[in-house]
Amino acid sequence: MPKQNGVSRHIVLTSHPNRYGSQPISINWGAIDPLQRGPLIATLTNQSHRNVIGTHSGSYSVYRALAVARGELQSDHKPDLSNTSPVEYIGPYPSWADPDKIVSLDPFGAIVGEVFTSYYEQGYDIRPTIAITKAHINMPELQDAVAKGRLQIDGKIMKPGGDLVVTKAAIEPVWYLPGIAKRFQITEGELRRALFEQTGGMFPELVTRPDLEVFLPPIAGVTVYIIGDIQDIADPGKPLAVRVHDECNGSDVFGSDICTCRPYLVHGIEVCVQTAQEGGAGVIVYCRKEGRALGEVTKFLVYNARKRQEGGDRADAYFFRTECVAGVQDMRFQELMPDVLHWLGITRIDRLVSMSNMKYNAITSSGIEVGERVPIPDDLIPQDARVEIEAKKFAGYYTTGDVLDASNLAEVKGRSLVD
Ligand SMILES: [Zn+2]
Repeated sequence: MPKQNGVSRHIVLTSHPNRYGSQPISINWGAIDPLQRGPLIATLTNQSHRNVIGTHSGSYSVYRALAVARGELQSDHKPDLSNTSPVEYIGPYPSWADPDKIVSLDPFGAIVGEVFTSYYEQGYDIRPTIAITKAHINMPELQDAVAKGRLQIDGKIMKPGGDLVVTKAAIEPVWYLPGIAKRFQITEGELRRALFEQTGGMFPELVTRPDLEVFLPPIAGVTVYIIGDIQDIADPGKPLAVRVHDECNGSDVFGSDICTCRPYLVHGIEVCVQTAQEGGAGVIVYCRKEGRALGEVTKFLVYNARKRQEGGDRADAYFFRTECVAGVQDMRFQELMPDVLHWLGITRIDRLVSMSNMKYNAITSSGIEVGERVPIPDDLIPQDARVEIEAKKFAGYYTTGDVLDASNLAEVKGRSLVD
């Protein structure tokens, strides 16, 4: 076939199975033996090998397409995976063998290079969907916690200078469609059709290939930061602190004062360090679900709508303004979030650093026991974020303090756009 810049001139449709003849390797989701479960193959160069819908790298697959289009990347490039294997191993845990417990990631995603060697020898292109490495992280707030005596330098978990030693895992989404449909109590047909139509028909196999049950969606994934020994996470005899945090670039990175995201994230890290230093472990789950998974454009539109409405930015209208713009208050679907906790083998959380009732309900109804819930300390809440926090507490977020009544809620006001 003639090729130009590594791009085939011949467009290959993925939507009609018969032209490929042989059946791809089957996937038995929930099998504890990875060879019985089967590898996930999303190659774009050998269509007959494909046993999933979509492709790797989530939303970054679009940049890969640009690199191929520009001739900078060969479309048939196979990654050289030498020395990329995990620095720490996670699992297998009993939860991996339950097809209902984990439906939105591949529990074997970090170890494909080790468990599927026989397939590699046969020329299959199998790629990791999880990578596990180690790092030192340092944040000014943690140095401040050391200076004020709330955290100790122990030379192992926290090094001199406030460097925190972490193991971190990056996880790409892998959706087992029958399991996702079951989790949301909809039919698989309804799920496939909505995914197909609402992406502008981006993945025809969603509707033409019911035999392919695994979808690599074009969305961002999750990063896990582990503090302490990795084995201790799954040991119910050792204390475990967890914060599940949804991305908020404006606050997390740039320190915007309209919400509590960064202060609460850092408090979560502090509780994780304390728990690890008490002989347990801490886990930060960082989910790339910017602006309640509505995205930053919607988020900034809502900020304007909140601050320009009659009576100014007020806690009693907080959720309403989001719903006006987005049509819903939230699209994070916490029902899928506990999957990562089950991948880590977590069965009990002693300190859940979150006030979200949606996260708490999702975690506990997935079978994980939760001990203490840790709210954000009052002195960490920025003045302009009072609107958010009071509105959330009124809506059912966990608090050990008072919840305002409806009339007092209207009195909690934020800054205007011109201040
Ligand atoms: Zn935020």
